[in-house]
Amino acid sequence: MSDVASKPIPEPTPETAEYWAGAARQELMIQRCTQCGRHQFPPRMLCTACSSRELEWVRARGLAAVRSFTVVRRPVSEAFAEDVPYVVALVVLDEGPTLMTNIIGCKTEELRIGMRVTVCFDNRTPSCSIPQFAPSV
Ligand SMILES: [Zn+2]
Repeated sequence: MSDVASKPIPEPTPETAEYWAGAARQELMIQRCTQCGRHQFPPRMLCTACSSRELEWVRARGLAAVRSFTVVRRPVSEAFAEDVPYVVALVVLDEGPTLMTNIIGCKTEELRIGMRVTVCFDNRTPSCSIPQFAPSV
């Protein structure tokens, strides 16, 4: 049995609070600029395309493509020792933004650039869930 309690728990900031609240609801939330319509991640106070402060939170569909990945074989801490080998990846959401995440539910040798993946959640505590991705079925 893995000691999930010892894994780090993110501390929400004013910019990321809605993202983490959404994850706890099993929803992947990203920002959308109401001026230019562009989606962005990670969360910021301003739109990175037009500098508008008129940002809204929207639920992403949770569909993405793998852009790049690496296989971690040496855990960064004891909390992740039972997870190795695990995958850290960059995935491009269908809405546009890129996220760093884990890919689960797939043998590392089966991972491919461009593979379609769908969001899922690692529920670490009742109020903290970490968005991850698994191959789309
Ligand atoms: Zn904008």
